[in-house]
Amino acid sequence: MKVLVTNDDGIDAPGLWAAAGAFAGLAHVFVVAPDREQSGVGSSLTLHAPIRANRVRPAVELEGVAAYSVQGTPADSCVLALEKLVGPVDLVVSGINSGSNLGQDVLISGTVGAALQGYFRGLPSLAVSVGAVTETRFEVAADLLGHLARRLAGGAAIPPSLINVNLPNEPADRIKGVRVTRLGGRSYTETVQDSEERGRPYYRLFRNRPVQRDQGEDTDIWAVRHNLVSITPLYASMTDVERMPEIQDLFGGWNGCGADDAG
Ligand code: MN
Repeated sequence: MKVLVTNDDGIDAPGLWAAAGAFAGLAHVFVVAPDREQSGVGSSLTLHAPIRANRVRPAVELEGVAAYSVQGTPADSCVLALEKLVGPVDLVVSGINSGSNLGQDVLISGTVGAALQGYFRGLPSLAVSVGAVTETRFEVAADLLGHLARRLAGGAAIPPSLINVNLPNEPADRIKGVRVTRLGGRSYTETVQDSEERGRPYYRLFRNRPVQRDQGEDTDIWAVRHNLVSITPLYASMTDVERMPEIQDLFGGWNGCGADDAG
């Protein structure tokens, strides 16, 4: 069994090595991750500059683990691993991330952005996050991954899929169980702070304004808030099927340049 472990918190992040440790000894583990923190870059790829990768020594003593640090995004790291450095694997794991990736925020998540590249290549791919950016407890998530590693090593099959896992930042004895959920809405939205330096304005974006959109009982947001581990199978199609007829009506009358039959 070959497992690729990547992340968006960077090659030195403890959560990355906790994920690698869960599979070490049970699989050939390859760690390929950005050389610095890249949280929030989503599925961004570096298409207009060269990408460099360096073989590095694993940050923790792990049996049979090869590691590379990539001067690129999380998605770059996954692509580079699967297409060049490692080749196809049986499982892609992105994480364990410091901070949750819930609801529509998955669209800006570098953790999910890296896992998407495994999913696009038909490989089972997991994004794993814990809901705290400081003093993150990785051990429960690592234990869950260890359970999966033993099941896979024992012959269990995992379908090609993109699975978003979020854990509350709680010790094992406070976690009430596992729930398969759907994505909720957004939990934070952006604000802009302006400032100036030598007469020239500049701006900084923050994601600090809470929004309470769609946090129903079947959502990932609700589950994590209620001390459940949330597991959401994701689907890359973003088509809004329900709106299609209305949009057809809006644009369908256009027959070419200059033609306008709007009455
Ligand atoms: Mn991150």
